[in-house]
Amino acid sequence: KIIQRCKHVCVIGSGPGGLYAAQHLIKHGSMKVDVYERLPVPFGLVRYGVAPDHPEVKNVVNSFNKVLSHPNVRFRGNVTIGEDVNLNQLMEAYDAVLLSYGSSEDRKLNIPGEEFVTSARQFVGWYNGLPENSNLQFDLSNSETAFIVGQGNVALDVARILLSPIDKLAKTDIASHALETLSKSRIKRVSVIGRRGPLQVSFTIKELRELIGICPTQFREDDFYGINVDELPRPKKRLVELMINTSKIPLAIHDKYWTLEFLRSPLQITKDNNLKVKFALNQLQNEKVVPVGEEIRNCDIVFRSVGYQGKILFPELPWDERSSIIPNVEGKVSEGIYVTGWLKTGPRGVILNTMSDAFAVAGQILKDLESPSSSKPGLDLNLKKRITSYEDYMKIIEYEKSNGKVTSVQKMLEIIQ
Ligand code: FAD
Repeated sequence: KIIQRCKHVCVIGSGPGGLYAAQHLIKHGSMKVDVYERLPVPFGLVRYGVAPDHPEVKNVVNSFNKVLSHPNVRFRGNVTIGEDVNLNQLMEAYDAVLLSYGSSEDRKLNIPGEEFVTSARQFVGWYNGLPENSNLQFDLSNSETAFIVGQGNVALDVARILLSPIDKLAKTDIASHALETLSKSRIKRVSVIGRRGPLQVSFTIKELRELIGICPTQFREDDFYGINVDELPRPKKRLVELMINTSKIPLAIHDKYWTLEFLRSPLQITKDNNLKVKFALNQLQNEKVVPVGEEIRNCDIVFRSVGYQGKILFPELPWDERSSIIPNVEGKVSEGIYVTGWLKTGPRGVILNTMSDAFAVAGQILKDLESPSSSKPGLDLNLKKRITSYEDYMKIIEYEKSNGKVTSVQKMLEIIQ
């Protein structure tokens, strides 16, 4: 009689992609799962991306805690795959390797003067206490006007953090250094700028409604002339209706306000006393962006929020530069190697999308590992650095309850010494 032994799967990255896949693997098969994470603590963008004033979104960690405390799952934090361990070692030790290390870079504007641009991704990392971004400095005490280039949810997150009352932010788990800097901020005007029109924005209604509720707007009514909302599919219709209704609110003088601006692409940024951004003024012709003029505008800070981007960790694997993904067929890259999360879908989509995709890929792994051939042993790790466990993470969380978010790797390692 064949005794079916546990198969060993390793998951690279402990964000929603990796952890939902791990959840599915242990629920539906006799699997042992090792989760590798470059940081000492898990959860990826749930801890370091999702805005601090969205605690309800972070409730997903309740399910992730169950996954990481399951006897068949082992969390191995502070291990950078590609540096501390290579792909060959993983492939020799595991029956399947699931890559879900996300998208940790950002798309650039590729214009002269890009060095004057602030990355929204780094700003998000900074206010969330991501160790590599925690020492960044943002001069908000000398800035009144901010441009945010890009019209997705991350752009609205950045606008909301810049414009929220400080006492509201103080009630969240925002990093203390960010709270201090934001309390001295003099930002009064925020423009969220897109290269196309109101029908092409990629933020969602919930985020738009929230920002409208937090700070007065100055939308321009004529940006919406000629739009027939009845022709739009339902979610878009509600979103555009909200923008149109907001544009009809009579303009009043407000100390702080924000606005949406359309059909503008930055061409160049220069700096003297403040920043001067040269924009192309666009028209949409058959859905194509066509520049028809230019304007130069002054501001104090420009955020770039035009998308995240994945990076090549393993040169031996294929890479699709345009979509920023590892090419795959339903999550399978090659024999024994799989991909999920933003690394599979491209850097877009909310946690719910990432979850369904991770379940599907984990299902594919289970199917491929069904036949009872011999199983691999897993990897004995012998590194000259402290590898963190789930219990270590719990100690860090306990410390944070009374001391606030820990924002350096060194401090995390001190806490668990
Ligand atoms: P990640 O969450 O990025 O996880 C990848 C993990 O891999 C990270 O922990 C990373 O440290 C680790 N890693 C990277 N390199 C290595 C390596 N070499 N070795 C080991 N580990 C490595 N969705 C919502 O539903 N609601 C929201 O409010 C929301 N807000 C968002 C705000 C921002 C700013 C962003 C960027 C996204 C937001 N999302 C939100 C989307 C959500 O965060 C993603 O859908 C989800 O996190 C993608 O999961 P992932 O596992 O692919 O990537």
